Amino acid sequence: MLGLVALGHDGRRVVQLMALALPVLAWLAWPVHSAAVHRVRAVVVCVWALLFAGDAVVRAYLLDAYRAAPDSTVVLAAAANTTAREAGEYLSMHWRALAVGAGLVAAALWLVARSAKRGVRAAAPWPRWGVALLCVLLLPSVLGYASKPWRRLHPVAFWAQWNESVHALRQGWRDQAAQRDAALERARAAAPVLRHTGPSTVVLVVTDSINRDNMGLYGYARDTTPRLQSMHGLLGDDMVVLRNAWSVDANTVESLRNIFGFGQHAADMSFAAASTAASPAAAGAVSATDGLHAIALARAAGYKVWWMSNHDDLAIEQEHARLADVVDMVNRTPGRAGASLDGELLDCLQEALDDPAERKLIVLHLMGAHPHYRLRFPRGENPFDDSADAVDAQLAGQGRPAWVRRFRHEYDAALLYHDFVVSETLQLTRQGARPGEYRAWMYLSDHGQEVGHGSDRAGHSPSTASGYRIPAIVWRNRAAQPVSAAMAQAPFRTDWAGWTLADVLRIDWPGAQPERNVLHPGYRWQPPVLPPGVVSFTD
Ligand SMILES: [Zn+2]
Repeated sequence: MLGLVALGHDGRRVVQLMALALPVLAWLAWPVHSAAVHRVRAVVVCVWALLFAGDAVVRAYLLDAYRAAPDSTVVLAAAANTTAREAGEYLSMHWRALAVGAGLVAAALWLVARSAKRGVRAAAPWPRWGVALLCVLLLPSVLGYASKPWRRLHPVAFWAQWNESVHALRQGWRDQAAQRDAALERARAAAPVLRHTGPSTVVLVVTDSINRDNMGLYGYARDTTPRLQSMHGLLGDDMVVLRNAWSVDANTVESLRNIFGFGQHAADMSFAAASTAASPAAAGAVSATDGLHAIALARAAGYKVWWMSNHDDLAIEQEHARLADVVDMVNRTPGRAGASLDGELLDCLQEALDDPAERKLIVLHLMGAHPHYRLRFPRGENPFDDSADAVDAQLAGQGRPAWVRRFRHEYDAALLYHDFVVSETLQLTRQGARPGEYRAWMYLSDHGQEVGHGSDRAGHSPSTASGYRIPAIVWRNRAAQPVSAAMAQAPFRTDWAGWTLADVLRIDWPGAQPERNVLHPGYRWQPPVLPPGVVSFTD
């Protein structure tokens, strides 16, 4: 038990947990004459050990895979936002980790059961030093159960509290209407104005789990993006492919908060702290983007907003989608395990483009290449599955196991289908503009994906750079300022995407920060602090 507890906790916590576990384990030293009580004792000790071992193994897994504690915001939000079906799919994808965890718990349980069987039956005289030692050992247990913060660490207390937090979070999402009204109010107070008179149509494509390293457009060895590449050839500098785009979060909920919330969620704490320290007078002042949401800003500036999504996601619907005038969630299967293909959204996009409104912002939220990869392309359309090409040879050379390589083939097939959907959205955006109409299209992924790039893993990856390497592309039919090749090389971060989006929407407001807009000549890059500790943000 000590071994497992040390896996899931560190330092003082290990001692605290062991102190909480000790009293029931010490019961084994107490003489028990009746066979029935002996059996009851064995069961109680095993259940007790199971609680501590299970708690430790779950914590160790979260720490290893997500560098997060179970009660961190990231894990609580993910749990609150996960349906039973989705949880089942997640477990089926990560069954290897599950098997290792179950194996560890089973081994611990076997050892504990053996010890419980040998629990003391007959009273035997204890040496005085033995009694003294047991008392000394039990003293921290007494202290532990007497202290509230300490006994809260007990697995039963902790996970009951955890369950309550998850429910509270879910309830909070359910009634966010008032918060949305407040967001619209703040956006009006920000006083946005349009630089452009006449009709204006902007399409924003937010996709999921796309790692730019797997796109031919970004130099991948497999031909995964033939359509986007030919469009890039056709459109030239009007289509700005941001070569060094990064997300600052490795999961959807946090990332979308940052993209639409002008990075206030990421709380680039170091930066905020530094700027506050530099100007103590401004410490109490409210920043011009405090609580500002890009969708609300667009509406306040006169845009009619559509949110069309292939996700079925309570948190995102409540926090972002419902700020739009028109909401269309085409995927009725709860969770991301649904097999609804992103192409379903193309008809909806066409309908919105046909709408006669003067100013339109159409947001498409795609499933992209979110696990399971095989659900992200039409059945049977995987040209990479049994090709012995350079990519496969490279993976084999890196010693990636067969299951990781199979996931890579499926991932690349998902990217190929994604290329069709994304290029089609750009094609539809370019067609049918009215005379003098401004049209623009912006595409980015919420985060990247690790599919055997740097480790033997497939999935979301907060602990490797692959979890943050995303594509970002902007097309405008009449660029506000010509974009040089050097600008496309500038690194881009998703928590600053709001400023670029506002520029693409041609919105001016007093809170605009051109130094955070990658399309502005005054752009000033500051690297975000990412968990993997990225050394260079440019390749
Ligand atoms: Zn995502």
